[in-house]
Amino acid sequence: MDLDDTLLPDRSAAWAAVEGTLHAVGVARPSETVQSVFDVARSHWRSGPYFERLRDLGISSWEALWADLTLASVPQAATWGQRYRVEVWGEVLRTAGADADREDATRQFARHRQALVRPFPGAAGFVERMARNHEVWLITNGASRLQRLKLSLSGLEQHVARVFVSSEVGYAKPHPRFFQAVSDAFTRDQAVCLVVGDSLDGDGRPALARGWPAVHLCGDLDDGDGLWTRVSVIGDVVPPCAHGPEAS
Ligand SMILES: [Mg+2]
Repeated sequence: MDLDDTLLPDRSAAWAAVEGTLHAVGVARPSETVQSVFDVARSHWRSGPYFERLRDLGISSWEALWADLTLASVPQAATWGQRYRVEVWGEVLRTAGADADREDATRQFARHRQALVRPFPGAAGFVERMARNHEVWLITNGASRLQRLKLSLSGLEQHVARVFVSSEVGYAKPHPRFFQAVSDAFTRDQAVCLVVGDSLDGDGRPALARGWPAVHLCGDLDDGDGLWTRVSVIGDVVPPCAHGPEAS
C-alpha cells in the first residue's frame, strides 16, 4: 500500500496547513497566497545543495517544510532542512508584507500539518480488514522520519507488517531497485495479492510490470485500457484474492 494520497491526504493536507498557517500569522487573504508558498518552497528546494540527492530519495519540497531530514545517506540534509524551512517562510512573509516571525510561522506550519494526519474515510477499515488475512506492507516515498511519524500518528501502524520508505531503501518509486527491495523481502511462500496507490507511474505501472495486481485510487481518469481497477475511495477497493480461513 502506498501512504500519501492513498491512505492519508497529503497534497490537500499540505494546502490546508499552509492556508491555516498564513491565517494564523496574519497574512491578508491567505487563500490567495497559498500557491506562492509552494512556489517559493520549490524554488528554494531546487536551488539547494542536496536537491538531486533528496529528489532521488523521493523527498518533495512541500514535505520538507515539516520533515525531519535526518538521513544516513545525506548527513548534512538535516541541518540544511531546518534552514530551508525558515528561509521559505521568511520569504513568504516578506513578500506578503506580514509582520510575523519566520521561526514562529515554521513551527505553526508543522503544528497545522501534523494535526491533519488523518486517514481518508474508509482507509482505516480497509487496512484493518486486509490485515486479518494478509500482511500489509507499506511502500512509500519520502523522508524516513516523516513517513514513520505520519504512519504512527495515523493510527494505522498496528496493522502494517513492513514499511519500505524510499529514503531508507536508497531509491524512490518508480525506480526498479525500490521494487526489487520489496521483492527481495518476500519469504518463499509470499506473493503480492494487491498493490494500492494513487500514482500510476509510482505505484500502478511498476506493480503491473512485475505481474502484481494493482488498484489505482484517483480523482481524475485518463485512458481506459482496463489493465487496472480505478476507484476514488479506498473503501471501495475489492481485493482480487482472499487467504486464510475466509478463503475456503
Ligand atoms: Mg501516493
